[in-house]
Amino acid sequence: MLKTPPTLLHNKATAQDAEEIRKLVGAGKVFYGNTISEDYARDELAVDTAFPDILVEPETTEEVAAVIRYANERVIPVIPRGMGTGLCGGAVASRGGIMISTVRMNKILEIDQECLMATVQPGVILMDFQKEVEKLGLFYPPEPGEKSATVGGNVATNAGGMRAVKYGVTRDYVRGLEVVLPDGQVTEIHGKLAKSSSGYSLMHLMIGSEGTLGFITKIVVRLLPLPRKKVSLLVPFPSLAKAIGAVPKVLTSRTSPTAIEFMQTDVIHVWEKAMGKRFPHATAPAYLLLQFDGNSMAELEAVYEKAAEVCLAAGALDVLIADTGDRQASLWEARSTFLEAMKTIGQVELADAVVPPHLIPEFVTYCDSLSEKHGVKVWTYGHAGDGNCHIHILREKGMEEEKWRKTLPAVMDDIFRKAHELGGQVSGEHGIGEAKRKYFLKYGGEVNIELMRRIKSCLDPKGIMNPGKVV
Ligand SMILES: Cc1cc2nc3c(=O)[nH]c(=O)nc-3n(C[C@H](O)[C@H](O)[C@H](O)COP(=O)(O)OP(=O)(O)OC[C@H]3O[C@@H](n4cnc5c(N)ncnc54)[C@H](O)[C@@H]3O)c2cc1C
Repeated sequence: MLKTPPTLLHNKATAQDAEEIRKLVGAGKVFYGNTISEDYARDELAVDTAFPDILVEPETTEEVAAVIRYANERVIPVIPRGMGTGLCGGAVASRGGIMISTVRMNKILEIDQECLMATVQPGVILMDFQKEVEKLGLFYPPEPGEKSATVGGNVATNAGGMRAVKYGVTRDYVRGLEVVLPDGQVTEIHGKLAKSSSGYSLMHLMIGSEGTLGFITKIVVRLLPLPRKKVSLLVPFPSLAKAIGAVPKVLTSRTSPTAIEFMQTDVIHVWEKAMGKRFPHATAPAYLLLQFDGNSMAELEAVYEKAAEVCLAAGALDVLIADTGDRQASLWEARSTFLEAMKTIGQVELADAVVPPHLIPEFVTYCDSLSEKHGVKVWTYGHAGDGNCHIHILREKGMEEEKWRKTLPAVMDDIFRKAHELGGQVSGEHGIGEAKRKYFLKYGGEVNIELMRRIKSCLDPKGIMNPGKVV
């Protein structure tokens, strides 16, 4: 049986605490009460809002450590905050407390071209970082859909994204961390090392811990040489089942796609209306969007032609090739803004369950059937290539609160139960935060949850770091 964690009584942070914290970090970096912008009361999940008591914008590791030490002594919650693009309420101060934003810790400290590693502060914006390394002919592969997120937020959630099929996720690129622990101690874990077998991996424990075990203040990541060429294929199919059914065939075709995304036309139509733009093709019921990269067009032609043949043999209606930078950029930009577009037709709740990649057809077909079962729109699209579906449950304008409150948990539970049955997990990349916690506690495995709770209470006995999140 799962042991319920002891109820920890946290203190509210007061105006007096704000004054004391000003003495630690400087007056201009501390906000209290109604001087805190509403942006900090929510993340991109945006269902419930909750303001922190105090918002702090430190510039250095020492300032972060001083604030956390102060909070620990007084048992005040601490909520680490990147850009707030998270999708599970992870960076929201649902129990009040001190929110520490990384907005001023935004420097790229070093790009070491000799050992292909870079050192950054946590508040560096992903797209800025990618641009800087690309200027040097280098490549940082993690590519979550929201590029205005911070690298620190990406590490804290182990963000995935489109290129995970070929290149893996954020965890695969982190080489070292500097972390402020819940008692205010600062520790350096690993560093510019290609590998390490030295004891338990505290680094991997911190990656994906969603601000519940410590505050990340510095990150060392590995880089790759930048592939010189890219080609994308947009592949229309006569049904969602056919599109998804082609994915395992592409995966085993030795063509090494960088990304395989799937989408349904309903979503494309919503996007076209919301953005006032035309998608290159929007008459087939479902699509795969694939990308390949390499160092020469000859090398790429061989693989994308093979992948096109595999798709056509699996029932594709056509294969559209996008080989110019502009055409590819517009396709992938569209894919990245689907969520924004869907929000124009109502409230959107999102599950990002992950299943073994070869079982994705069964999982997507099941999720698709939930629309009829529950009488709400359930639309899936996402990272077909790595088994990570993004399942959107829509509360269209006009749906009564009462119906939504009953239906949403029932749909969510069906999704996570099915993923569990297929050997999957509650979240493939967005994290657990607060929104997915109840499903994680149900489907995450009793022994594993109990272990996680023990780890949490060992590192953070007063439970100040991001309380109410994950476990
Ligand atoms: C349109 C859209 C598309 C998206 N697509 C993807 C996708 O493809 N793949 C994907 O993985 N995610 C995706 N996301 C989710 C989101 O962008 C990621 O979760 C991202 O990693 C969050 O970064 P952030 O800087 O906004 O962090 P925040 O939202 O501010 O925080 C996220 C979590 O990390 C913790 N945290 C932040 N900084 C630190 C720190 N320095 N130390 C310790 N803990 C910290 C917070 O407490 C919180 O728990 C998408 C979001 C949107 C809106």
